[in-house]
Amino acid sequence: MAEPSPLKRRGLLFVVSSPSGAGKSTISRMLLAADPGIAMSVSATTRPIREGEIDGTHYHFVDDAAFDRLVAEEAFLEWAHVFGRRYGTLQSEVTRAIEAGRDVLLDIDWQGTQQLKQVDPDIVRVFILPPSMDELCRRLSGRGTDSAEVIAARMERAAGEISHWAEYDYVLVNDDADACAAEVGAILVAERLKRERRTGLVDFVRGLTG
Ligand code: 5GP
Repeated sequence: MAEPSPLKRRGLLFVVSSPSGAGKSTISRMLLAADPGIAMSVSATTRPIREGEIDGTHYHFVDDAAFDRLVAEEAFLEWAHVFGRRYGTLQSEVTRAIEAGRDVLLDIDWQGTQQLKQVDPDIVRVFILPPSMDELCRRLSGRGTDSAEVIAARMERAAGEISHWAEYDYVLVNDDADACAAEVGAILVAERLKRERRTGLVDFVRGLTG
């Protein structure tokens, strides 16, 4: 029989939310690159694919009818309307990662986070704030080609997402992507060590003390 492992534990659902422009995608990429123990959950969405995106990697891009079918089949752990489109976390994505012994990174909004917390109270929720609204506006202004109205609408959405910051377990300010990614990594390490998730500890300690 295998030795009892003190590292054996339940997989973790690790949620990162932020307004767009706060650097969440960069931080998620850094975390995934630094830590092979965590995998991204690829959501399904009805929004159109953007240049540079890959179907199945960034999202599973589906039409409204396919999204309806997934809802009817109860394929989603959560789903929500965001900016007039639908986005949802597929149960199959999460199960695949957990069964492979990995933790799961979910880049979802506050609505999805609230729903997921109902389904699984054990989730870890991280919120990333921009250093200032001025800086966020600079980041959302992009290449300077968008109209003032478009930028104002993005700022309004960002303020709406930020209003949910207090529903999260950890709140970080991203004024430096490397430092923020290191903080996210530290949270992940600490959460992995939490006693309640470490199903292997009881047998390990029994083996230690007899
Ligand atoms: P984008 O279209 O810019 O990739 O994402 C827009 C927003 O949708 C982001 O705030 C992102 O966190 C959120 N989002 C992406 N996937 C999901 C999902 O599966 N569920 C929910 N509730 N939100 C999602």
